[in-house]
Amino acid sequence: MTIVLATSNKGKLKEFKEMCQANIISFQEILGDIEVDETEDSFQGNSILKSQTIYNMLPNKENYIVVADDSGLVVPSLDGEPGIYSARYAGESASDRDNIDKLVSKLKDKNINSCEANYTCAISIVSKYGTYCIHGWVYGDLSTTLKGDKGFGYDPLFTPFGYNQTMAQIDNSLKSKISHRAKALELAKPIIEMCNRY
Ligand code: IMP
Repeated sequence: MTIVLATSNKGKLKEFKEMCQANIISFQEILGDIEVDETEDSFQGNSILKSQTIYNMLPNKENYIVVADDSGLVVPSLDGEPGIYSARYAGESASDRDNIDKLVSKLKDKNINSCEANYTCAISIVSKYGTYCIHGWVYGDLSTTLKGDKGFGYDPLFTPFGYNQTMAQIDNSLKSKISHRAKALELAKPIIEMCNRY
């Protein structure tokens, strides 16, 4: 069986390869450039939409395990925003900085300088054995002050509970142990192993 990651993001492919210690390829190596629009209203829905769409397009699909993920930042004080819109919070072609600026301004509108938030990751796995989806979370404090220049997305605002540095200040090696993606992948591994066994 070949494991196919339903993402064109090279960073995610590298992260998954390191965490899974398995032979993983990007769907692009088989299908070329394809965009799957995230039209569902949950991380789980969008993750499964991506993995099932790619699985259905593969020739000889019984030889493949397709893995997709969908992730984002959830701020309960903002009714769950940016949530599934994390990547496009300030518009379709928004930069990380545009998204951060919008989030900070929404928090300031509510007189919030700091509040609890979480990163959520939904990993889905589609193979001839069916469709599975699991989640991982990392909880922390969200501040309106940016700190650090590592990581990506909202990391300069987010300090995981138990740490005194933001995700943009801590080492990448630590982030990839405590992140929402790492936690979801730990749960996904036995499912991928089962699908890969026979
Ligand atoms: P996607 O899973 O590639 O759709 O990413 C969704 C968006 O969520 C990203 O573009 C970021 O804005 C945000 N996000 C997801 N994971 C992280 C993370 O580990 N750090 C910072 N932002 C993240």
